[in-house]
Amino acid sequence: MNRPNIVVLGAGYGGMITTAKLQKMLGSNEANITLVNKHNYHYQTTWLHENAAGTLHHDRTRIKISDVINFNRVNFVQDTVVSLDPSSKKVQLENGELTYDYLVIGLGFEAATFGIEGLKEHAFTISNINSARLIREHIEYNFARYNNEKEERQDLLNIVVGGAGFTGIEFVGEIANKVPELCKEYDIPREKVRIINVEAAPTVLPGFDEELVEYAMNLLEGKGVEFKVGTMIKQVEEHKILVEKDEQQEEIPTNTVVWAAGVRGNSLVEEAGFETNRGRVPVRDDLRPNGYDDVFIVGDCALIMNPENDRPYPPTAQIAIQEAETTARNVKKVVNGEDNLETFKPDLKGTVASLGEGQAIGVVFGDKKLFGWTASVMKKIIDNRYLLKLGGVGLLLKKGKFNIFTK
Ligand code: FAD
Ligand code: NAD
Repeated sequence: MNRPNIVVLGAGYGGMITTAKLQKMLGSNEANITLVNKHNYHYQTTWLHENAAGTLHHDRTRIKISDVINFNRVNFVQDTVVSLDPSSKKVQLENGELTYDYLVIGLGFEAATFGIEGLKEHAFTISNINSARLIREHIEYNFARYNNEKEERQDLLNIVVGGAGFTGIEFVGEIANKVPELCKEYDIPREKVRIINVEAAPTVLPGFDEELVEYAMNLLEGKGVEFKVGTMIKQVEEHKILVEKDEQQEEIPTNTVVWAAGVRGNSLVEEAGFETNRGRVPVRDDLRPNGYDDVFIVGDCALIMNPENDRPYPPTAQIAIQEAETTARNVKKVVNGEDNLETFKPDLKGTVASLGEGQAIGVVFGDKKLFGWTASVMKKIIDNRYLLKLGGVGLLLKKGKFNIFTK
């Protein structure tokens, strides 16, 4: 009998965990497994704000795929997916084409830009290793330029962050730690530098616990972050940004806009013809989209409703990992001809967000609030737990965060 071809697209949280599980669960005589990814490394998206600020080197964040996946068992293809055709079961790559019997899509997120003028051209996003490295270099270059300009160029020293969701808040926490170091390096008085976090909602971290939000704002304001809440980013140009509050517009000179104001699923899934909602594909309980029994979708490309509040579960690594575990078991079932597929049940353990070195906020185990250093230790435990799950003790020792006082 021919062995079915399982193709996994994307080596993010969803794709890596699915592939790592499948290589253990399926014998080589049961199925061929192929993993496709743009790069030969997996990166922890949840650390990218540190790489973007320059407080953690990107090599700490990325993991060679071969350190986790056995290339004798899994056919790894380093290539970029260009399009998907679920009706003919084909995946078009930049350098070839693949056909599949079962497909797992884990192509992750991209920034939602909501049609805001100039955003695509002039703003940065914290999306992958390359974009994070670019932000770090760009900010440092602007600081280096400052004392070489003939005229005062405040735009070089104003860092504007769009969105005070978890990504925006985590990034301002890191950059607020990095700025004093850059000021020292480039002979710039700290008070000349502005870090401005613009949030459309009336509060930062909308919907999150009020006490923790207050803690975060006080701490970050203490490190020199300015918040503009109830304020929408309307337009971005090369050297300035236009924001609006209560119908009053304000221009802020800036060379650096980091857009962290929302994500959507990878546009390839929408282009493939799947039904989508903000670029995410509604999936059934077993993580397959309507009308396709040979496709599973994991992570930020998938949309699952939370029956408790009738809203989609947020796109998080936590959920991507859990979806991948269910998907691996379900793929094994379909390969074995079973039709009693497992229902995905998220087990949400809480949320912890960092506020820069040694500081964080979080709610865990239902309603336990964590602040400051305790929360930052919890964040490291969560990160280390993922490494252990993905690649065992070896990977944990290689890439884990163990020093509870520094990175
Ligand atoms: P991703 O992790 O985005 O991976 C997608 C993979 O697909 C990547 O390897 C990419 O290179 C590859 N890929 C994309 N397009 C192509 C293509 N065309 N061809 C080939 N390969 C491709 N969530 C939490 O739960 N906790 C946190 O603390 C947390 N912190 C975060 C911090 C930041 C700064 C950000 C930006 C997000 C954070 N999140 C966090 C959200 C979390 O990172 C995402 O939900 C998670 O990464 C989604 O996982 P994924 O597997 O769907 O995709
Ligand atoms: P988000 O959608 O959670 O937050 C975006 C914020 O930008 C919102 O508060 C929104 O009001 C604001 N916004 C939108 N348009 C705006 C505009 N024009 N001007 C100003 N503000 C605007 O997006 P995110 O923070 O990138 O998070 C994406 C996902 O990743 C979420 O599910 C989040 O939970 C997850 N995440 C989790 C963690 C963590 O657990 N530590 C960290 C980062 C991200």
